[in-house]
Amino acid sequence: MYRSHSCGELRPSDTNKEVTLSGWVQKTRDKGFMIWVDLRDRYGITQLMFDEERTSAKVIEKAKTLGREFVIQVKGTVIERESKNANIPTGDIEVLVSELTILNESIVPPFTIEDQTDGGEDIRMKYRYLDIRRNPVKNNLMFRHQVGMKIRNYLSQEGFIEVETPYLIKSTPEGARDFVVPSRMNEGQFYALPQSPQTFKQLLMVGGMDKYFQIVKCFRDEDLRADRQPEFTQIDCEMAFVEQEDILNIFEGLTRNLLSEIKGVEIGNFPRMTYDEAMRTYGNDKPDIRFDMKFGELNEVAQHKDFKVFNDAELVVGIAVPSGASYTRKEIDKLIDWVKRPQVGALGMVYAKCNNDGTYKSSVDKFYDQDDLAKWAEVTGAKPGDLICVLSGQSHKVRAQLSALRMELAERLGLRNPEEFAPLWVVDFPLLEWDEDTERYHAMHHPFTSPKPEDIALLDTNPGDVRANAYDLVLNGNEIGGGSIRIHDKETQALMFDHLGFTPEEAKAQFGFLMDAFQYGAPPHGGIAFGFDRLVAILGGQETIRDFIAFPKNNNGRDVMIDAPSNIDTEQLKELNIQLDL
Ligand code: ASP
Repeated sequence: MYRSHSCGELRPSDTNKEVTLSGWVQKTRDKGFMIWVDLRDRYGITQLMFDEERTSAKVIEKAKTLGREFVIQVKGTVIERESKNANIPTGDIEVLVSELTILNESIVPPFTIEDQTDGGEDIRMKYRYLDIRRNPVKNNLMFRHQVGMKIRNYLSQEGFIEVETPYLIKSTPEGARDFVVPSRMNEGQFYALPQSPQTFKQLLMVGGMDKYFQIVKCFRDEDLRADRQPEFTQIDCEMAFVEQEDILNIFEGLTRNLLSEIKGVEIGNFPRMTYDEAMRTYGNDKPDIRFDMKFGELNEVAQHKDFKVFNDAELVVGIAVPSGASYTRKEIDKLIDWVKRPQVGALGMVYAKCNNDGTYKSSVDKFYDQDDLAKWAEVTGAKPGDLICVLSGQSHKVRAQLSALRMELAERLGLRNPEEFAPLWVVDFPLLEWDEDTERYHAMHHPFTSPKPEDIALLDTNPGDVRANAYDLVLNGNEIGGGSIRIHDKETQALMFDHLGFTPEEAKAQFGFLMDAFQYGAPPHGGIAFGFDRLVAILGGQETIRDFIAFPKNNNGRDVMIDAPSNIDTEQLKELNIQLDL
């Protein structure tokens, strides 16, 4: 028996017990006549004591050879500590050791395995197994497990069945690139790893499973933006005989339940906002509504003077920064530089200070008088003491720029409190999205999303105006879930493929299996998928998903620990019939 107790378990009530513990040596303190060792396992730390007077000389001698991260087993007696440590749950006791076995030695670890480590990100990733021994990482993984269990319980109680779907499939078009896997047995042919189980879960509905879920790995070969992973986990769900309302209700319930049980935060009905409203009010389809700074569109009150920049713009739009009137000239110039960074891309920024005495001072006083500026204040909701920041240009660009500024300012003003939770549904997304590069419409969500019936007629005339039965769940400025009511008849699906530029032959070659299935009594259905990694990170009060993944990839999509991706040998390539022209 390696242990009778864990290292997090013993209390004063265990005094005088004979115990056996196993774990890692976190640190040793050798005072000559006495040696103390902090012994660690997943459950905590227990102090061991080797005392010249009470422990045999042989054991003491062995104890002196212990180094950091040695794996040991000890037998001993629980005694009350003289100087107690209130910081750890086992801090009132220690174990007086009588026997010591070294189960395995360790070379000196490349960083200290403590909460505050001296190891940088790169080295910790290379030795991730050591990093996982540290509380911050270990606790995150345990937290992830807990959230996963709650989700499984909730959905099971609601009648959902977890069904596994295959990883070696044919490409699912979700807008990103597929990872592909060559097939040895089918020369020259490839599987794709699923970007999501989308078509399979729809087929499960045709199969009568009624309510499906799966906590499942998905793979997308995208250029990695900060904090994206090429493989990530979704809580994937689908339901038959439902309308949008049914789906929103179940998943609002799930989210409310998680917030209540994990964070102790009670939230009533989640607000809903149309995509259009979100874009107009926050410049973003995943607005952070924990704070205000709503957009005020200023065209009407700013395009009547000689200021050419505004007059030429499709949209003039501003926000009121709380207490921003006190910013110095230098601070404002810095803000202007910030919006002009290539990542944001604004050409400049106009501002107006709302002085506490009710007057205004703007960067365009030459063009606008006090009455004009008072109107700007009214439209942006600026109060005395605030600063109005105004951007102008092409609508979609300007909205994105002002949204970036709004988030940056909120961060600086401390308005993005990770312990505050503001979920909302964004609904009525456009069905199609114009792609400048390919000069074609793409499905904004995916090609299986149904148009709103009342908008179908617009498909031929104004495709960009057709709204979809699609929705996103947004939490604190993050999209944590998205889904839609699906097309469930062959004709509408064919119409959709047609509008996406597929010939009937191409549609049949790629999605024939789905269109075939739709001919055998496909029920009306719809679903949603939550990003599990991000949800866990947000509930954990952090925004970096990497910290909640046991073995994440770095920003170049590499696993630096196992050194993947890597070359494979010629034999393997030959077997796969792949020739590399290097
Ligand atoms: N498959 C979709 C996605 O991954 C979610 C859904 O429509 O259910 O975004």
